[in-house]
This record gives sequence, C-alpha cells and structure tokens, in this order.
Amino acid sequence: MQNDDTYDLETLAVRAGIHRSQFNEHSEAMYLTSSFVFENAAQAAARFSGAEPGNIYSRFTNPTVTAMQERLAALEGAEACVATASGMSAIVATVMALLKAGDHVVCASGVFGATVQLFNTIFSRFGVQTTFVDGGDPAEWERAMTPATRLLFLETPSNPLTEVLDIAALASLARKRGALLAVDNCFCSPALQKPLELGADLVIHSATKYLDGQGRVMGGAVLGRKDLITDAVFPFQRTAGFTLSAFNAWVIMKGLETLAIRMEAQSRNALGLAQWLEGHPGIERVMYPGLASHPQHDLAMRQQKTGGAVVSFIVKGGREDAWRVIDATRLLSITANLGDTKTTITHPSTTTHGRISAEARARAGITEGLVRVAVGLESLKNLCADLERGLKA
Ligand SMILES: *Cc1c(COP(=O)(O)O)cnc(C)c1O
Repeated sequence: MQNDDTYDLETLAVRAGIHRSQFNEHSEAMYLTSSFVFENAAQAAARFSGAEPGNIYSRFTNPTVTAMQERLAALEGAEACVATASGMSAIVATVMALLKAGDHVVCASGVFGATVQLFNTIFSRFGVQTTFVDGGDPAEWERAMTPATRLLFLETPSNPLTEVLDIAALASLARKRGALLAVDNCFCSPALQKPLELGADLVIHSATKYLDGQGRVMGGAVLGRKDLITDAVFPFQRTAGFTLSAFNAWVIMKGLETLAIRMEAQSRNALGLAQWLEGHPGIERVMYPGLASHPQHDLAMRQQKTGGAVVSFIVKGGREDAWRVIDATRLLSITANLGDTKTTITHPSTTTHGRISAEARARAGITEGLVRVAVGLESLKNLCADLERGLKA
C-alpha cells in the first residue's frame, strides 16, 4: 500500500503495515524468530549502533510486531507505536519511560482497577505520586496539579461506569501546564474515538480487548509522537523487554481487520440492550453513553462515533440481586474480560474492583448492585431474554 493519508480507517485496518517477503504472500507472514542473522560482522555492528536500520533481536524488533504497530498507528493517526505484552505493561512502560522520581500524576479515579493499584502501590514506591480526581470538571483537574505534575491519565468512557471525560478540554489544560495527556482508549478503540486528534499526547491500549476482539491473546500498545514513542518508550522497551510476542502481534493485527464492523455491530447491540434495560422495572439505573439519560451524552456523541459496546446497570436491591441476574444467564459468559464477540457479564465490586479499598470503591461509584455487560455479536433478542430470566425473579 502506498502511504496515503486519504485512506479511511476501514481501508487502513486491512492494508496498513504490510511488507511482503520474497514469497509475496497475500496474508501477512508471521516471523517466529528470536534473533536475526547478519551478512557479516560489520553489518552486525552497524545494526547495533543504529547506523543501519533492520531487525536485531525480537525483544525490540520483529517484523510481525512492527507490522502490527504500523497498522495500529495508522488507525490512531499516530506517528509511532510500541506494542507491549499486555495493557498493564503499556502503562508501566509509558510511566517508566517518560517520568522520573519526584514527578506527579493526576489520574481519573474511575480508571481500570489494576491501573489504580499500579499508581497507588507500585509507582509511589519509586517516587512518582498520584492524585486521583473524581469528576470530569477540568477545573478540578487543574486544582489537583502541582508544579511537578508531568502526566494526566484518563480513560473514557470509564470502566465500568462509562463516565465520559472531555479529552479536548483536558488536552488543552495539559498543554497549558506543560504536562502530557495519556488516554487509555480501550473502551472505544480507534474505530470510535481518536484521542490524538482531540489533542492527547499518548494513547494506551489493552489490545487484549477490542483490538484482538475475540478474546484470544494478551497485548498492549502505546502510541503518540516520535519524540515520545520512538525516542523514549522504544529505548525503554529495548532495555526492559515488555515485549509483545510475534504470534500475539499477528493475531491482533488480523483482529484489527474487522475492528470497524465489530465495533459498529456491537455498539448497535449495546444501544438496544441499554434501551431495553432502561425500561425494565427490575433496574434502578442504566449507564450507557449512547442513552440520552447519560449525564455526558452530548459530550460522548461529539467525541465518540457511538456509545460503545459496554453497558452497566444497577439492579434494584444489592449484591444478592445482582448475583441472581448474573447466575440466571445461560448464554452470557461470566467472566471479567471484555471486548469479545461473545457477550460477557461481571460484578465489578467483587471481581475487577475487589482489590481496591471499600472507600476507594465507594468513591468510584462501584456499588453492590452494579453489573457490567460487555456486549458482543449475539442477537439482541437472545441477550435480552438471557438477562430477563434473573430480572423477573
Ligand atoms: C483490561 C484493561 C486494561 C489492562 O489490560 P491487560 O491487557 O489486561 O493488561 C487497562 N485498561 C483498561 C480500560 C482495561 O479494560
């Protein structure tokens, strides 16, 4: 494919990052090799010094991983991408590559449970302190910033409450105060939202979710400008080795080919399910950015292409009632994973958010009646019927 930025996302998803071998294969080749052979000692020296481009060792260069990175970068509109072994390792790599002891982070309190844990209990031991901010008001974020603040970190929509934060407003705050804005774009994927176009400096992915899209492999990525990714995250990866395997990169790259149609179909299902739940007498509240009742519905519709594929709702009653709905399902998978073509159902307060303190959970709004459904590709009628069983009891 010629480099041509007039190509649409759907085209880039199947065509970007292809470098055919001498065999001219049509489907992308998979290079399962830990190292690469040099013509002679001089070439080895030139590769190692960086004087000659080319692969050296798969901890930091592998043609399959490179192809996946190029494809994802094309979809996000990023200059560069470093793929990592998981979404969490993408966050660790970003912080360790770009921050140092004494730096300060402001983070949305509604981010993924393990992300809260990472900032609270691990980065703090290395001298990077984090202040968590509850609301979406940029003024609140600004108040939490100090002269040492180097990074603003958020997810939108958040997991599991689907809170939507204003990327453009927080990007301009970050720029004004000399900090970087990192957006975990897991819930939307580039098919629905492009944080870099809205002014973010960094996009983080758990490729385990929608990018693979079929629940097969772990993976992650961080994307952004060359000065951040190529000059800082890549050298960190070269040394630290949070490497994505070539096999996983290949699976994720093939997953990207169907990303746009999956996100469209799963969003359509999610909207239908949210509307059905909203009218159900057993439900206290439905949280879905595509519903007019969502507090940031207008912002979500400006910033995202659809409401996304995750619907959260509060079952009337408490934990017992939420568990009854979950346990009555026969079709939905009871699993904490999301971003699969198979619909999954989970009880966040006792699973994904079970390790954080009760106060932190209450502050984040993770109540006992809360259920999260990550909607897949099954028929909407069958999904509603599966949830109805527990709700009518
Ligand atoms: C799952 C998830 C992560 C972590 O990704 P892993 O691939 O499981 O390490 C980070 N952020 C969000 C929003 C997630 O859903």
